[in-house]
Amino acid sequence: MKLRDKSIPIVAERAHAKLSASGSKKWLTCTPSAKLEEQFPDEQSSFAAEGTFAHAVFEQELLTRLGRPVDPLPQDLLHFDSADLRDHVAAAVAVAMERIDDARARCEDPVILVEQRVDFSRWVPEGFGTGDLVIVADDTLEVLDLKFGKGVPVQALENTQMRLYGLGAWDQFAHLYDIKSVRMTILQPRLDNYACEEIGAQELVDWADTYVAPRATQAWAGEGEFVPGDHCTSGFCRARFLCPARAEAALAVAQQDFALKAPELLTREQLVDVLSKADMAIDWLNDVKSYALKQAEAGHELPGFKLVEGRSNRKYADADAVAQKLLDAGVPEALIYERSLLGITAMEKAIGKKKFAELLNDLVVKPAGKPTLVPVNDKRQALSSVASAATDFS
Ligand code: SF4
Repeated sequence: MKLRDKSIPIVAERAHAKLSASGSKKWLTCTPSAKLEEQFPDEQSSFAAEGTFAHAVFEQELLTRLGRPVDPLPQDLLHFDSADLRDHVAAAVAVAMERIDDARARCEDPVILVEQRVDFSRWVPEGFGTGDLVIVADDTLEVLDLKFGKGVPVQALENTQMRLYGLGAWDQFAHLYDIKSVRMTILQPRLDNYACEEIGAQELVDWADTYVAPRATQAWAGEGEFVPGDHCTSGFCRARFLCPARAEAALAVAQQDFALKAPELLTREQLVDVLSKADMAIDWLNDVKSYALKQAEAGHELPGFKLVEGRSNRKYADADAVAQKLLDAGVPEALIYERSLLGITAMEKAIGKKKFAELLNDLVVKPAGKPTLVPVNDKRQALSSVASAATDFS
């Protein structure tokens, strides 16, 4: 059994593939994006660094449970270590171990690989990635991927990144095992999301041959049509601030001609039409503003604009010195300090998620959130309508 080639650093793998699996939704939809992105620097956020550390802990914990040797955790990321992170990783490890136990129950000698390089370059030029856990048990191949984000739940269905990982693993083992089915699972412990997709191996290969390969060839060459959409933001396209195709699509919302003259009013259909494109336009405007601010901060002149100091509030230069001075002056301690309980997230971080659940679960309530308007295909249950004929559109 071949373990991961340790000469290839995980972080570099995750960061530098031109047609990366993680960005595949973007370059499969908007094929020239990868080439356009090349002129912009990588945006490695501290969230990504925390995710890298969580992956290292996941690898270490899983290898320990499997009785295999482990690498030390990356020293430069140790500041991300916390009881909260450990709890979440332990939840993901528990799901991964269930899958391993299940494979062992079905098959005498399953292949179990942790942090395994998967190569899908047969379809995507220089395409490779890392399967956090790859299991081959008889005719079933399984790839599990840890997602440490807590923004939105990652969907497993038709997830192109997961499919490319599954494809790479299939390509590695198909000549040794008669793999009929490929199962791809997201481990997103911070949102309790363990979604999975299972498809036939042949269906996966057909998808790669007919859909992925031709688009990858175009993407590699920078050819094809620019297609703006959700993937500009969710795929963190590095060109999204200055991309003319995205700008045009966003501006088209504001330039829409309804062929109406006041005192005529927009109809309900026209309002819904604007609403359905509003987020895309707002995202673009916010991106333009934050990009322009960064440019100005870096010393680039933007004609008609200047950098000024924003509002700020007074604050103590040295809180300890302030307290000491007040106490020395005879001001009672009870007057100068206030005692407050940590919030839920901070408390979970302080005492660990497990202990929090043991002690406090029955003391935590979740009040109803403010009404939010979302597209009808959003997974959340609709609130019962309070609209009446009097408030309705004519
Ligand atoms: S911003 Fe959107 S449309 Fe423009 S290159 Fe990137 S993915 Fe394509």
